[in-house]
Amino acid sequence: MKTAEELRQLLDRIDHRGYPAYKDTKGRYDFGRYILNIEHVQGDPFASPSKVSLCVEGRKAGFLREYYEQKHRRISLQDYLLRRFAVQTGKFSFQAKGSGKSGLLGVSRPGQEILERSACHIDEKNGDVLIRMEIGFPANGRTVNAGELKKILFEFLPQCVEKTLFAKAYRPEALLENAYLADDRLFIRQEMGRLGLVVFIADGSVLPRESGVSDKPLKGAVPFTSPDSLAVTLELPHKGSIRGMGLKRGITMIAGGGYHGKSTLLKAIERGVYDHIAGDGREFVMTDGSAMKIRAEDGRSVRGVDISLFIRELPNGKDTKEFHTEDASGSTSQAANVIEALEAGSQVLLIDEDTSATNFMVRDELMQQVVHPDKEPIIPFLYRVRELYEHCGISTVLVAGSSGTYFHKADCILQMDNYRALNITEKAKQAALAYPLLADAERDFIEPVYERRLRGEQSFWTDERLKIKSLGMEGILLHKESVDLRYVEQLVDEEQIHALCGLLKQSGRKLLDGKRSLKEVVDFLWEQLMQNGVEAAAEGNFPPGNLAMPRKQEIFACLNRCRRLHT
Ligand code: ADP
Ligand code: MG
Repeated sequence: MKTAEELRQLLDRIDHRGYPAYKDTKGRYDFGRYILNIEHVQGDPFASPSKVSLCVEGRKAGFLREYYEQKHRRISLQDYLLRRFAVQTGKFSFQAKGSGKSGLLGVSRPGQEILERSACHIDEKNGDVLIRMEIGFPANGRTVNAGELKKILFEFLPQCVEKTLFAKAYRPEALLENAYLADDRLFIRQEMGRLGLVVFIADGSVLPRESGVSDKPLKGAVPFTSPDSLAVTLELPHKGSIRGMGLKRGITMIAGGGYHGKSTLLKAIERGVYDHIAGDGREFVMTDGSAMKIRAEDGRSVRGVDISLFIRELPNGKDTKEFHTEDASGSTSQAANVIEALEAGSQVLLIDEDTSATNFMVRDELMQQVVHPDKEPIIPFLYRVRELYEHCGISTVLVAGSSGTYFHKADCILQMDNYRALNITEKAKQAALAYPLLADAERDFIEPVYERRLRGEQSFWTDERLKIKSLGMEGILLHKESVDLRYVEQLVDEEQIHALCGLLKQSGRKLLDGKRSLKEVVDFLWEQLMQNGVEAAAEGNFPPGNLAMPRKQEIFACLNRCRRLHT
């Protein structure tokens, strides 16, 4: 390792030289309080910025061991430090000047969710704090501007590090509170399992968001309160007693008039698979971590999925035990989404009528009388929802404001009334007696088989020039095609998509060989991620600082939507 002074001298030597002279700066430098590692140097000022990491040794950083040795606390502390580091670097970005990306200081900017990210890692054994970031090495035209880079490396970064990566920079209570919140959240999730709850929403939670493009809490919103009959009180280890609505395993229906807050409630439940930062309003909105939002997704591709539970005997004679299409309809896409969720191990399905195919959800009585069920390939979800629970233990939380037929099937019926949740189970069940459900055609419940083996064309996937990159939140660009992830609604952060790019690449190149099942491959990837962190999504020695942990469900969802994989 070289000294910071040597770096300074090197920079003085290469000043005004051609930009590629910056390549010589690659390496590790001791800055006393931390180590700067210049991992990759950009080729020119307009290329993607240089990759740099900063590491503060654990005994210098001084965070108490009890804040990082357990995973849930560590992830929470990493998130806490990263947010503050990002604010500091934000102040200095582009303060050093020059052409192209000169002076850019880029680091991950987390949203409302707390996710494990490659941008900040704390070693659970020795407490070393690592930050991965990008720096646009400054140029005058296409020549090295060493003076500006010295400003960044010797003035700006030391301040950012000093203010955020040492325990001394924080009030001790702030770090303690952060750890306590992480404990309380974990405790709620564990209690939910013990009590058979799939959803917990604390009283006082703020569910609506500021707008369709902002994930911040809506100001002046009506806070959530649990109906007494569904209220659960938990004794949290730190916060103490907390009351909230507990939804039990089984079938929950959310009814209510238009605009009364049904979809908002379901959206909050969808996001409850992740932890949220303090002040989000959903800190104590918790959902079974495997829960999957199921929606119609016209036009998606489907690869050999057994959708026969819902769709049989298509008029074109297509096999629905191994259903393939490049362009699914509303109902077939939603059926495939359910089956794939089961394959991915989801225990809870979340469905909103707003984003469902009507013919997948229900068929009314008049239609049943006129068109004989034998002539209808679709077995609506209505006739499977109980069986899914009774045979496979799969719970459903479903928003339905326009059709009361689910009253017959639900264990619990909520009504959203002016943003307040009411428990109307008894009343609705009573009313439903006057409208008996017509029996659908008898069609056995046969549990789907999940043994799909996908494989990619070797020549395509092993091509060295194969480009895989993210398209923001839209999906992944794979060569010239896209893997559309817009409707995988529980992807919440672009960095999760970056991680999926790497996982897709590994799968296509070597794991999906036509011998392993899709499930085996995802299990393998998951194991790697759990053992080595989200960095395992990338190959090579220097993982980028822009990866965030996806769930297993979203890894499945990504592979399932890739048109370059075949059975
Ligand atoms: P629904 O699905 O019942 O038609 P939505 O959930 O879409 O209704 O909510 C309608 C509107 O009400 C949205 O603009 C949402 O932001 C707002 N809203 C939802 N819940 C609340 C609340 N608790 N307080 C204030 N506004 C809310
Ligand atoms: Mg709605």
